[in-house]
Amino acid sequence: MPEPVAFFRGHYMNPKDARIGVMTHAFHYGTATFGGINATWDEEKQRFCLFRVREHYCRQLAACKMLHMQLPYTADDMVNITLEAVRRTGFRQNVYCRPVAYKSSEFIGVKLHDLEDDWLVIATVLPPFSTSGGLRCCTSSWTRISDNQIPTHGKICGGYVNGALAKTEAQLAGFDDGIMLTPDGHVSEGAVTNTFVVLKGNLVTPPPCDSILLGMTRDTVMQLARNELGIDTIERSIVRSELYEAEEAFFTGTYAGVVPIVEVDHRPVGTGAPGPLTASLQQMYRQVAMGRNPKYAGWCTFLVPDQDVTRDDGTLTAVKELSQS
Ligand code: PMP
Repeated sequence: MPEPVAFFRGHYMNPKDARIGVMTHAFHYGTATFGGINATWDEEKQRFCLFRVREHYCRQLAACKMLHMQLPYTADDMVNITLEAVRRTGFRQNVYCRPVAYKSSEFIGVKLHDLEDDWLVIATVLPPFSTSGGLRCCTSSWTRISDNQIPTHGKICGGYVNGALAKTEAQLAGFDDGIMLTPDGHVSEGAVTNTFVVLKGNLVTPPPCDSILLGMTRDTVMQLARNELGIDTIERSIVRSELYEAEEAFFTGTYAGVVPIVEVDHRPVGTGAPGPLTASLQQMYRQVAMGRNPKYAGWCTFLVPDQDVTRDDGTLTAVKELSQS
């Protein structure tokens, strides 16, 4: 039977057997960083495509630096361990990989320095992100954390209480998600998604300084818009009025993909149906993330589960059980 696999303290195991102590620093203070990486299953080609996996790990290592973390693994080690974890699951469907780097010392005291760090990754299956024709969103009453409170360019676990407050507030009020604004009232992002709007035919997204995570899907969409449609995305601050003025709006994220937003604060976005640019980017993104577009094969690391681990450059990677660290 296929089952989720965790790589924890140097070994592959069932996530149920991977346990941390109650004194663990990250559990008390959110002193950890996480990631989310898709291994998309291509039934026809009988292979997984891990999308921009090395870049995900470079982003995680940058977040580790923000938290004064030093890991015993390089980005390449993390890629190889992740491939092996996916292979060991035995799944033949989309797998979601969740790496976590965390302050592993069993220590009470609020600080970042002079603590031990560790890293683990879980390969598991998530239910598909439900969109049912597009999302109904509200602007959140929760302000997005600003970069001088908790660095927003890193996926820092403690900071996700902010997104969780926004998401739950939105869902308890009957919406699908909340769009958070910066302290200055600029549109920032959803709990785990970047925001795009189409305004007078222009594709617009908040800039890196409006408290966003620099999403991999955001970057992918901007590159696809430029290369495939000749559309340059404008990165500039967006105000709340523009959410109501937009012809189209969508979220991007690894788990979500490209998801249309069809309503904001009880006002239809454009016609109230997913817009044509959104639909076109959504379709292109799906193909590219599954590894079906050879032009973007450089973003893809393919794993043929019944063979050795194969890299996109065709080389084989032998992944060995690492010794206890
Ligand atoms: N913003 C936040 C706060 C997120 O957690 C995520 C998910 N990683 C995103 C945006 C989208 O980023 P990506 O496209 O890299 O998944």
